[in-house]
Amino acid sequence: MASTLYLFNNAVTELEKAAGYIQIKKELLARLRFPDRVVEVNFSVKMDSGETKVFKGWRVQHNNLRGPYKGGIRYHPNVNLDEILALSLWMTVKCAVVGIPFGGGKGGIIVNPKALSQTELEKLTRAYTRVIAPIIGPNLDIPAPDVYTNAQIMDWLRDEYTKITGQDQPAVVTGKSPLHNGCLCRETATAQGGLYILRQTMRKLGLIPHQTTVAIQGFGNAGKNITKFLKEDDFKIIALADSASAYLLPENYNLTDLIAYKEKNKSLVGYPDVKLISNDEFFKLKVDVLIPAALENQITAANAPNIKVKIILELANGPTSPEADKILFERGILVMPDILANAGGVTVSYFEWRHNLGKSVCDIPQEMGELDKIMTETFDRVFEIKEKNKIDMRLAAYVLALERLSEAYLKQP
Ligand code: GLU
Repeated sequence: MASTLYLFNNAVTELEKAAGYIQIKKELLARLRFPDRVVEVNFSVKMDSGETKVFKGWRVQHNNLRGPYKGGIRYHPNVNLDEILALSLWMTVKCAVVGIPFGGGKGGIIVNPKALSQTELEKLTRAYTRVIAPIIGPNLDIPAPDVYTNAQIMDWLRDEYTKITGQDQPAVVTGKSPLHNGCLCRETATAQGGLYILRQTMRKLGLIPHQTTVAIQGFGNAGKNITKFLKEDDFKIIALADSASAYLLPENYNLTDLIAYKEKNKSLVGYPDVKLISNDEFFKLKVDVLIPAALENQITAANAPNIKVKIILELANGPTSPEADKILFERGILVMPDILANAGGVTVSYFEWRHNLGKSVCDIPQEMGELDKIMTETFDRVFEIKEKNKIDMRLAAYVLALERLSEAYLKQP
């Protein structure tokens, strides 16, 4: 594949490194180095102005050894094939790490959804669904939300798929609204799973919430919900960052107020008593926990040497570059990798899919108990592999994933 694939090549390199710690068939690794299928789509949407615009997108199916392809759909102006390829491989690894019966896939459209009206967003989603319909399905490939996509978009996708196939199959997509066969707890699941991982990490380090300071980058679904959970748990949230700026919070801020302000004004600029700081200053803050919950490649060789935290909890996918990973490991900073820390989202997607297939409904306390168990047990297994091999948590998680992929590979007829 082309050498411009920076993120995807990094992900493959990590897989290859992990393969050095276990016995796996060379053919399996050869298979995982490439996606099973890459579909590029181009489609038109009639905009409110009457003009017809052409959009480009992809659906990448990386691997389905352990089950149907699974992964979100991203709407972002900077979406590119390298990113979608890497994200699809990470989904294969993530589902294997937490042991849910899915493979990995990912989709995306190059679009700024903030500049679209609701009607345009719906038309865009339906048009994309029509062009990917032949390759998705409840037992084939199951999309879900990702950056700038949500339950409403998943509901449109399901509805369009029903029209195309003439059969209502809610399990074709997860992350739907609770009114339309979604799980009530799916929206907060990524943050919830991250919280379980953070609690377990803190047990290892002997940290307690009310003495623990936190900085959170990103205020989308995962960032906003982890902020709420941490506040409820009495953590000290010192700083936030969104796509407009970074901010030091006043000591007695009211979170409900702050969220309402952010939703109305699109950023926290101008919110009473917040102090604007640069991105550089944000990554130099002396806090206990740093939570990147935005996009890829935020922690790099340029800022990693100045990061002064004990724990990094990756709620975003791919926020840390391999060079930064090395620096952080040498400096003793414990990184909870994306493929573990944000796996709560896809795990609850699995619960939703299971309910849809079995025609049952989700039961929040039972689901949260199951999520806690999966996240905590996975953390313990990954931690054990890390300690045994003296490697970082990311590589240890890849090792666990490869073990599970290898089991599936050997079971093939
Ligand atoms: N987009 C989320 C992720 O990156 C969730 C995917 C899903 O639920 O399928 O893990």
